[in-house]
Amino acid sequence: MFKAPKGVRDILPPQSKTWRSVENTIQQVLEDFGFDEIRLPVFESSELFTRSIGTETDIVAKEMYSFTDRGDRNYSLRPEGTASAVRAYLEHQLYTPSPYRKLYYSGPMFRSERPQAGRYRQFFQIGAEAFGVDSPYLDAEILVMLKLICQRLNLTEWELQLNSVGCPVCRSNYRQKLQDYLQAQVSFLCEDCQRRSQTNPMRVFDCKSAHCQERLAAAPRVADNLGDECREHFEQVKNLLAAQGIEYKLNPNLVRGLDYYTRTAFELVSTKLGAQNAFAGGGRYDGLVEEMGGPSIPAIGFAIGMDRLVSLLEERLTLPENRPLVYLILLGEQAQCEGYNLLLKLRTAGIKCEMDYQSGGMKSQMKKADKMQAEYCLILGETELKEQNIILRQMQSGQQQTLKIDDLLRVSPFGKYW
Ligand code: AMP
Repeated sequence: MFKAPKGVRDILPPQSKTWRSVENTIQQVLEDFGFDEIRLPVFESSELFTRSIGTETDIVAKEMYSFTDRGDRNYSLRPEGTASAVRAYLEHQLYTPSPYRKLYYSGPMFRSERPQAGRYRQFFQIGAEAFGVDSPYLDAEILVMLKLICQRLNLTEWELQLNSVGCPVCRSNYRQKLQDYLQAQVSFLCEDCQRRSQTNPMRVFDCKSAHCQERLAAAPRVADNLGDECREHFEQVKNLLAAQGIEYKLNPNLVRGLDYYTRTAFELVSTKLGAQNAFAGGGRYDGLVEEMGGPSIPAIGFAIGMDRLVSLLEERLTLPENRPLVYLILLGEQAQCEGYNLLLKLRTAGIKCEMDYQSGGMKSQMKKADKMQAEYCLILGETELKEQNIILRQMQSGQQQTLKIDDLLRVSPFGKYW
């Protein structure tokens, strides 16, 4: 027996219905805020991810599904969507005539992490990227939109965590301070953090070891070391959020695990999720478009982790099973034949109906109608067929009515008689 690979799962009905409904709600809000859908490839050249996400990040160093294809080209399954969105923005020159573009995408992402509750190797994101504006108004707009998404989904018990990771200029000053601090701690840090402290010191904040985190408790934080412009930008974002009634908690440890972030960084976390508590995350990446070979265009984006979001909503969002309105009970070969035509005609008319291809007796077909929770059944036997009649029965009350088959399609009697 085959099984899905470790960390990869099927989304079965009726859970898939919850997914579809959550996706629709999110997409509607995104469209209302002016985002257009972009459909991105599932794999890209590995270099796209190593260059944008950064070689010292966990994603690139440990988690990418990379492979060489038959033409010896190096590809990776996408671990996230921003790199591809930037690549597409540049490849198709979506920055002309205006750099202002709002795009959203959805689909599976792949990271070879250790599977655990809320952490999968194939997981789903809906992400959005807004290019061309560095104003703090846009940062606030994105966060207002995320709050609206949570409201539309009736999601409570979540918190917005906010930080600023500055720009390369503030970071170059800060880097030295952090390195000096780490130097004194180096013998207590894990091997990865020892290396990071030399190559990319801010990445030490991503370390999952509690021991390292303890050692970082007194480390200098980037938000306390911002230059004037970045500090002013962060202040404005905070003021705009306050003006919109958006509550947030400052989290100076929030550095978001990817190298391209600048200035505003944020996560939406829920106390109901356990260790993997973030169900969305994002931030500004004002330098990435240029770094990827394009013009200097600022941008901000986020991704919602659908697996975690749906798990938060599942308990309350019990969507009805896909049950038929009508079950056709067909007695005899001729009734089966006629009933089959009727089934397809009803479906074409938008009425959900089912029949039994195994053609059992009245009792067994009635049992199946019950099991499928049909609201009505239509009974067609030899006697009815002769008269071109059909019996309509409401399952719950047992009330019956004899109708002309032709009337059934003309006047759609469901709900009319009872
Ligand atoms: P990131 O791209 O790491 O910022 O992730 C954005 C969101 O995607 C996170 O807040 C999670 O909700 C979700 N996510 C990231 N990695 C995983 C994973 N391995 N399994 C499930 N969800 C994930």
